Amino acid sequence: MVRCHCGAQAVMKTSWTNTNPGRRFWAHCGFIEWLDPPMCHRSTIIIPGLLNRINNQRAQMEEVVEDRARIKKYLYVSWFFFFMFVVFKKMDRFRCCNEVSGL
Ligand SMILES: [Zn+2]
Repeated sequence: MVRCHCGAQAVMKTSWTNTNPGRRFWAHCGFIEWLDPPMCHRSTIIIPGLLNRINNQRAQMEEVVEDRARIKKYLYVSWFFFFMFVVFKKMDRFRCCNEVSGL
């Protein structure tokens, strides 16, 4: 357990900066103390690239989910209009037959 200068217990956090990706540290009101040792140079190059790739894939997935929801909504609306079309066609046929029978 690490204490801050103010006496409170510091909170463990994870850095996601390009220079310290995934490196844990203790922090509280401006106090910072690293928990993990410094990262090797190769890690500081590879990990941000992997994080960017993951973020891009997440953004693409969110677009796909939004597109899917929009298409689903259009499908429901089209079903509604088709249903209404069928109902009105039936009503027209019924009205037509009543007029014919009334003659
Ligand atoms: Zn503090």
